[in-house]
Amino acid sequence: MNATATASDHAHPHDPNCIFCKIVAGQIPSKKVYEDEDIFAFHDISPWAPVHFLMVPKAHIPSMAQVGPEHERLLGRIMTLAPRLAAEQGCNPYPDGGFRIVVNTGSEGGQEVHHLHVHVMGGPRPWLKG
Ligand code: AMP
Ligand code: ZN
Repeated sequence: MNATATASDHAHPHDPNCIFCKIVAGQIPSKKVYEDEDIFAFHDISPWAPVHFLMVPKAHIPSMAQVGPEHERLLGRIMTLAPRLAAEQGCNPYPDGGFRIVVNTGSEGGQEVHHLHVHVMGGPRPWLKG
């Protein structure tokens, strides 16, 4: 049992069957990009672009369809952190570089993992997708 798992279990509601909750808790390995009290970021296991990582709230929120005013700070923090992490992970500077942020929501929105996650993709073209 590591410190991350203990802290996140106490502080954040989680779904025991959720793969991203297990990643947050350290029960499934991931390549970590960033972690703080409320946010975890890790490399996507099948990247579409030279840089492709996911940012997730540690709390189990199924999707953007469930967010409300109580999540304004959390989502604001994710969105303002994304450019910093993108640069750290090797995305080239704006405007010739840049990055793409995608949040798939629901089946028709292309969401496969039902724990809210923000895709951040970037790096030199061509990309596999997108
Ligand atoms: P979405 O279609 O928006 O739900 O995206 C889910 C993403 O999670 C996909 O890009 C997957 O490649 C990625 N993914 C699934 N399992 C893992 C894992 N164990 N570690 C890292 N990324 C994963
Ligand atoms: Zn979850």
